[in-house]
Amino acid sequence: MGRVILHCDLNNYYASVEALLDPRLREVPLAVCGDPESRHGVVLAKNQIAKGYGVLTGEALWQAKRKCPGLVCVLAHHRIYEEYAAKVRAIYCRYTDQVEPFGIDECWLDVTGSRRLFGSGFEIAERLRREVREEIGLTISVGVSFNKAFAKLGSDLKKPDATSCITEANFREVVWPLPAAYLLFVGGATAKKLADCGIRTIGDVARLRSRDLQHLLGKHGVRLWQYANGIDNDPVRLFTDHRPPKSISHGVTCREDLTHAEEVWPIFRHLAQDTGRKLRAEQMQAATVQITLKGASLQVKQYQAPLPEPTRSPQLIAEAAQALLIKHYRWAEPLRAVTVAATNLTQGKAPRQLLLFADERPEKLDKVEDVMYGLQERFGGQALFSAAELLADKLPRHREKLPEEEES
Ligand SMILES: [Mg+2]
Repeated sequence: MGRVILHCDLNNYYASVEALLDPRLREVPLAVCGDPESRHGVVLAKNQIAKGYGVLTGEALWQAKRKCPGLVCVLAHHRIYEEYAAKVRAIYCRYTDQVEPFGIDECWLDVTGSRRLFGSGFEIAERLRREVREEIGLTISVGVSFNKAFAKLGSDLKKPDATSCITEANFREVVWPLPAAYLLFVGGATAKKLADCGIRTIGDVARLRSRDLQHLLGKHGVRLWQYANGIDNDPVRLFTDHRPPKSISHGVTCREDLTHAEEVWPIFRHLAQDTGRKLRAEQMQAATVQITLKGASLQVKQYQAPLPEPTRSPQLIAEAAQALLIKHYRWAEPLRAVTVAATNLTQGKAPRQLLLFADERPEKLDKVEDVMYGLQERFGGQALFSAAELLADKLPRHREKLPEEEES
């Protein structure tokens, strides 16, 4: 007996949440963006009306406005998007414990074992759509299939607010005529290689011999051939089976170039604050700090150093970043963008050696920061912050995420 896999994709996710927060936005062409005042304002997401004007995710705001002069731009509210995504996942978890998130707005569900209780894959998809719409006010597109690759493809076939089924009986008619680029993990470069060989549709991929694709694309080619032929045994992970990150980094492009180390400090402190929050949430600590500096000429330099002992303290991470900057950077040119990364991560709080003259500062900082993050959690990020962050006047008012973080 085959598996029943669902892929659920929230439609126009960021823009739909913004319209929930302010229903007037439903009627206008809408773009969600980073700070429009910063030099690098880009469209992070758009609604259906803006799509109609040809507005693209990732394009500069001024370009989008040229295509669509009436475009309304709102700032991204990433924290709120995380909250809504968690509510939607809680609905998915009513039907199975195998719920595997893919980005913020997509999930795979394995409902093979849920059918006796809840009905067929299609019926479960219809229930999910209704519950997400009625309880949250957002819409999803659902693909129902016998593997993850086709379920994902299915959720793209009809949207918004629709269910598509791809079965072992119909996949040749439904999937094979589609462009090869629709297959999971076919990016621009792979699509171009395929096109150069006259391979345009998924059916073209399927009808080749797997070893020819291996010759063309290596191991990846074999996987594509398998996907195209409906062979994909990759399991849907348990919702609780979260994989811890290998590194946590936060970066920012500044409103104005930074010209000396004193100007960088509050920005490092601000970035490290987010890194510390994530480390706490993951119950991890970092043994190494790495900084990436992008100069005004866009030249990139990277430095790293081990910490005296593993930590999750934003203060200590920022201090290590600042020490790296002072040690290595000669200010041949001002800095445009900086990133702080915590790497070499380990689980939990490592037992500290009780040395007679051990530095007590990390312990004390940890207690203070526990209180600080607790207050931010309860009253919002602006409730309390480090005094150094007040000096970060070259930070954009709202930080941008990279456009590829949301697909829509
Ligand atoms: Mg989506």
